[in-house]
Amino acid sequence: MDAISDPTLRDIVVVAGAQVGKTEMLLNVIGFHIHHDAAPILLVQPTLEMAQAFSKDRLAPMLRDTPALKYKVKDPRSRDANNTTTHKVFTGGHISLVGSNSAAGLASRPIRVVLCDEVDRYPSSAGSEGSPILLARKRSATFHNRKMVMVSTPTNKGASMIESQYQESDQRQFFVPCEDCGTVQTLKWANVQWEKDKPDTAFYNCEACGSVWDDPKRNRSFRKGEWVATADFTGIAGFHINGLYSPWTVLSDAVRDFLVAKKAPDTLRVFVNTFLAETWEDQGETVGDIDFQSREDEWGETVPDEIVVVTAGIDVQDDRLELEIVGWGRDEESWSLGYKTLHGDPSTPHLWNDLDNILKAAYTTENGRQLGIRAACIDSGGHYTQAVYNFVRPREGRRIFAIKGMGGEQRPLVSRPTKNNIGKIKLFAVGTFPIKELIFSRLRVQSEGAGYCHFPAGRSDEYYQQLANSEKIVTKYQKGFPRRDFVKTRTRNEALDCRVYAYAALCILSLNINAVADRVVNAPEPETQPQPQQSNPLARRPKQGGFVNSWR
Ligand SMILES: [Zn+2]
Repeated sequence: MDAISDPTLRDIVVVAGAQVGKTEMLLNVIGFHIHHDAAPILLVQPTLEMAQAFSKDRLAPMLRDTPALKYKVKDPRSRDANNTTTHKVFTGGHISLVGSNSAAGLASRPIRVVLCDEVDRYPSSAGSEGSPILLARKRSATFHNRKMVMVSTPTNKGASMIESQYQESDQRQFFVPCEDCGTVQTLKWANVQWEKDKPDTAFYNCEACGSVWDDPKRNRSFRKGEWVATADFTGIAGFHINGLYSPWTVLSDAVRDFLVAKKAPDTLRVFVNTFLAETWEDQGETVGDIDFQSREDEWGETVPDEIVVVTAGIDVQDDRLELEIVGWGRDEESWSLGYKTLHGDPSTPHLWNDLDNILKAAYTTENGRQLGIRAACIDSGGHYTQAVYNFVRPREGRRIFAIKGMGGEQRPLVSRPTKNNIGKIKLFAVGTFPIKELIFSRLRVQSEGAGYCHFPAGRSDEYYQQLANSEKIVTKYQKGFPRRDFVKTRTRNEALDCRVYAYAALCILSLNINAVADRVVNAPEPETQPQPQQSNPLARRPKQGGFVNSWR
């Protein structure tokens, strides 16, 4: 706020974490200009809806409850065009609240004070008019005493607008002194310590003398702190502040949040962005260099005992079918039981007969259990939709289903089936993004157990290239908003698709695989007592197909 009211500064950039008073700061700036330094003000929010919510939930209560502002802006109940949700007039100025996606809102009257909130959620272009930040900045060009304030929590590294603006600034950070040794330092997550799995033991550790700071001591430290530039001044004053500087942050709560967040990359990213106010570098871009062949397993005619469910995934190409059979155990540890290419024309029946025989096959575990394929998913999104529908229609009872892959980060793994298709069959939408992300994270698991992926000896290098190295995650802009998506880096990627569909089949079964594994472990030995009959006909000791274990 000092920088914003400093007449020698025009551009201010704030990278802020949660609960550090970012919104309060914007409100104070607006209040100051209504009361002391009347000017035309523009407040830009990512969308018009957010601008309206800011006006109703934050601005209106301030104008109503602050004596110095109470009579400056007309009563909203007067239904006057001079006081609407998105436009309020006061003596000597006005404030307009707009969405960053509306070029019309961004480009009209001249503005002296431009406040851009949550800029990392702005589109890269407002309609076809270009960068909303540049559009807003143009509005203030004629004022010698213009102000441009940009505030945001950051998003992904390389795609973060606030990060690039901060990097062009003098990069001020808030340095606080240690009560014990006097060393000034910035507050960093790396210096937060706790006993394993005990967030209540959390404390802050002085990076110079190692003294322990509890919450009150940390709070006292930032009362004596000061902003220090860490780069040369080039006309932009930049500020970075994370959630550790918030007097409302209780360190043990922050550690608790962190322990929950770190279980998955997606939630950890939110923690890094919103609490630490740092950009997130995507670890999930590629699987990375893993020598799968060096860790291949050997299993012979029988399959490992840990497997309790078998599924299949089938990809349909113009001249062939490709399929993978996957065995699943406790915590979704997986074994690739076979990968096969069936050459032929998908519009002719013999290719589908071959597939049908493979899907009837049974696997015998080392301790003599028989495992049929409990569910299979076939991609129907290609050129042979009708052929796939024809194949699955009489086989839904065997849980052989048609699926359609759908892109997008926020999709569920598998959606409820619809029958709204030309075949009137159960069609499942499969969220390829979350499943691929999950598969990639599991391919990176290095030790046997939860999530680990086993492969049999003899898989080709091409197979592993297709599975782990044919796609990567990139951040793209769709309607201007950053969207992470998978893009192909090789032409052939069927091995990955097959694994996605085999996993979708496991999801469709929606079973608690650990409970299934418990039942198998507790079941009597098949030699002493026959296995109870299961509802799935495939589990009733189907006759051995000639395909079992004859290919990999
Ligand atoms: Zn110290």
